Amino acid sequence: MAIAPDSIVTIHYTLKDDAGTVIDSSASGEPLAYLHGHGNIVPGLERELTGRDVGDKLSVRVPPAEGYGEYDKSLVQSVPRRALRGIKDVRPGMHLHAQTEAGPRTVTVTRVAGDMVTLDGNHPLAGQHLNFDIQVEDVRQATEEELSHGHVHGPHGHDHG
Ligand code: ZN
Repeated sequence: MAIAPDSIVTIHYTLKDDAGTVIDSSASGEPLAYLHGHGNIVPGLERELTGRDVGDKLSVRVPPAEGYGEYDKSLVQSVPRRALRGIKDVRPGMHLHAQTEAGPRTVTVTRVAGDMVTLDGNHPLAGQHLNFDIQVEDVRQATEEELSHGHVHGPHGHDHG
């Protein structure tokens, strides 16, 4: 069956940045299963997968607006080191969970200079084109239970344990 809203889709994928560096891949492990049409993957990829079928291979280049968003400079802020008391060895590349005006958010430490720490609330892939190589492994209809939960059950999916 072709991929449509409420399909459970299983894919193998490799995600590269524009420099060709592999950011993420299912190649060495389990494929990814997701519920199609519910915003569980980035919009640009979800749209391209609609209508595809088992065995299809595709390469998709997703622009930032349909991926993890444009880079938003207003999400970058500098805070004094003492505002992060309790966190040891604050250093660039570290991810922190911060309480912001927009709710809880993961921020990345991008700079430590003297007593000031720069925090970036953008998704690490914001502003980047996403280059996916996809192979469709399986397509099936979602069960009522999966639709009510909004996610996949069973192999490769969500385990309520
Ligand atoms: Zn569930």
